[in-house]
Amino acid sequence: QDVVNKIAAGEIIVAPMHALKELMENAVDAGSTSIEVLVKDGGLKLLQITDNGHGIDRDDMSILCERFTTSKLKAFKDLESIGTYGFRGEALASISHIAHLKVTTKTAGSSCAWQAHYADGRLVPAKPGQSAEPRPCAGRGGTQITVEDLFYNIPTRRRAFRSASEEYAKILDVVGRYAVHCTGVAFSIKKHGDAGSGISVQANASTVDRIRQIHGSAVGNELIDFNIEDKKWGFTASGWTSNANYHVKRTMILLFINHRSVESSAIKKAIEQTYSIFLPKGGHPFVYLSLEVEPNRVDVNVHPTKREVHFLNEDEVIELVCNEIKTKLAKVDT
Ligand code: ADP
Ligand code: MG
Repeated sequence: QDVVNKIAAGEIIVAPMHALKELMENAVDAGSTSIEVLVKDGGLKLLQITDNGHGIDRDDMSILCERFTTSKLKAFKDLESIGTYGFRGEALASISHIAHLKVTTKTAGSSCAWQAHYADGRLVPAKPGQSAEPRPCAGRGGTQITVEDLFYNIPTRRRAFRSASEEYAKILDVVGRYAVHCTGVAFSIKKHGDAGSGISVQANASTVDRIRQIHGSAVGNELIDFNIEDKKWGFTASGWTSNANYHVKRTMILLFINHRSVESSAIKKAIEQTYSIFLPKGGHPFVYLSLEVEPNRVDVNVHPTKREVHFLNEDEVIELVCNEIKTKLAKVDT
């Protein structure tokens, strides 16, 4: 059974960035205003994420890494919304099957923090011979998740990662996306032993400040904002987009649907098309787009590893968004 679980987990968590994305979303869901990430060896040796969110109850710690354990379902009458938010209750379970996992957490109501180790979905002792039960310890409010030796028990996968810096770049990309999107939250990420290697944004930074800090002032100075609220198709769209004075070699789209970082090739294609009349050949745009649609309009039947998302009336929504961007671009002096 553990072998089957291990294989399934390896399909959900294909690379360190996938583990990081799940942990990041959990930290955001916990209402954190500060999220810190520490990475060693591209995330293969260490991924540690520390938040100041609402923490996990001592009583929930024993089932935390069982599959389909999710406190988030309670908040949703409608099971269809699960897909939208990725509320699958599989992330921590999966990680525990393919890495050494340690959780330290403190809720506001608890007088101390609690720490536990997990393997294969269950609590395990920190050292052989000790009790597997969570241990009280000192700690601040919030949760720290420590993932060590990812894929230690899947040697072929482990060997497939050639370059730690490539994996780190992907992790940086994920953190950077959430750091742009989650205003009100402070983010920091660094490589172990290399303080100058990451990103750091303050909680009170505006969206434009965030983009400027992560993607540079060249794009930051050329951003225009847009806002759409559409009753007919039931969506809102807002964001910031580069104008004809700024272009990059590869289209950069930071897309959020219902506050989850996702990919949509339909949106990418339409945006490139929209910009093609404004930009020189070979020039591409930078777009941050946050789309909110009714949860039951998002395709729920996507495999967890598929970041590609579809939603109802996609064509109509995309057309309205692109028309708005086009109108804004047409007004810019170049
Ligand atoms: P899901 O996010 O789909 O519910 P996960 O396996 O990612 O499933 O997490 C399981 C549960 O563990 C969450 O529903 C939440 O209750 C709790 N949890 C995980 N990470 C955190 C965190 N950083 N802060 C507070 N609670 C957390
Ligand atoms: Mg989760």
